[in-house]
Amino acid sequence: MKHVSKKFVLLPAAAVLFFSCSSEREASLSFMAMDTFMTLKCRAEEPEKLNQEVKAEVERLEALFSVTDSQSDFYRVNDAAEYPVIVSDSTRDLLELSVKYSELTDGALDITMYPVLREWGFTNGNYHVPSSDKIDSLLKNVGYKNLKLDGNFITLKEGQMLDPGAVGKGYAGDAAVELYKKNGVRSALIDLGGNIQLLGKKPDGKDWRVALRNPWGGSPVLTVKVHDCAVITSGGYERHFVADDGKSYIHIFDPATGRPVDNSLVSATIIAEKGVYADALSTAVFVMGEEKAFELWKKCSDFEMVLLKNDRSAVYTEGLEKKLEMDFDFTSVTVLKRK
Ligand code: ADP
Ligand code: MG
Repeated sequence: MKHVSKKFVLLPAAAVLFFSCSSEREASLSFMAMDTFMTLKCRAEEPEKLNQEVKAEVERLEALFSVTDSQSDFYRVNDAAEYPVIVSDSTRDLLELSVKYSELTDGALDITMYPVLREWGFTNGNYHVPSSDKIDSLLKNVGYKNLKLDGNFITLKEGQMLDPGAVGKGYAGDAAVELYKKNGVRSALIDLGGNIQLLGKKPDGKDWRVALRNPWGGSPVLTVKVHDCAVITSGGYERHFVADDGKSYIHIFDPATGRPVDNSLVSATIIAEKGVYADALSTAVFVMGEEKAFELWKKCSDFEMVLLKNDRSAVYTEGLEKKLEMDFDFTSVTVLKRK
């Protein structure tokens, strides 16, 4: 009895001592980069300074990955057509990972889609539906397999262009996490335009609560309670245009057809340790559709997913069973299981 009561007295005392010694504070920083609104939040002794350092790292990557800045790695590679271009280690790393994820997803992710996306107007706002002939001729040049990566030398096939849109923010999120970690930070939240990356748990020691946007408008549909991971969503509702035919065309394309994805999904959310992987997979899974995505998940043991469907139903993988809170009256909810 005596032993037990001693424990009860000692624990809170130790906790008070820990917090009173710590001069850690929380601070957040918001800014625009990579065409989106970003917020960094961390707990550290000098959080403002660290947030500024992480912002500078995100801006460094933005300057490499931009498709419009003539000094950037991506611009120079796209501009050089068939000639080899030397790029930074970060760009080489991003390209190598992209090719690996293209292989994993059987081409559902393909960063050589730029000429097709440009023709549809997704790069400059001149939206229109191209003719089938035009799409077919541009598609001939699409294909991650034609990308030549030789160390830091990158060579494209003629007519090919790269687009980091599906993976760049996830890669930047990983760089942010690494930089915070290197500086001893144990709790940080990185929001890169809705791509959420979490380092550790909340400063109060509890899991972070990440809410998923409601694709149909209104308050978030569900919340995941997680730590040390990325939560990344791809959804057609994020960017689209309505053509003269009254149809809506979204910004995520099927590399097999050169046309916007048109399947039963409204959004695909991936939860994985690494941001670049979650970003690549959220786009790829959205392209693949529910069945192929389920097959991929069964094959891999390193991600979980939530799929929201047009019929207002939800599907999620069994690893999330205890981490998920529903806040929406879905028409049905299915838990995907390995066995
Ligand atoms: P967002 O950047 O809107 O959060 P995604 O990560 O899904 O969403 O990336 C979508 C972007 O990736 C598009 O805007 C386009 O630039 C590019 N993209 C579209 N379809 C593909 C695809 N199948 N593979 C690779 N990149 C794609
Ligand atoms: Mg993505």
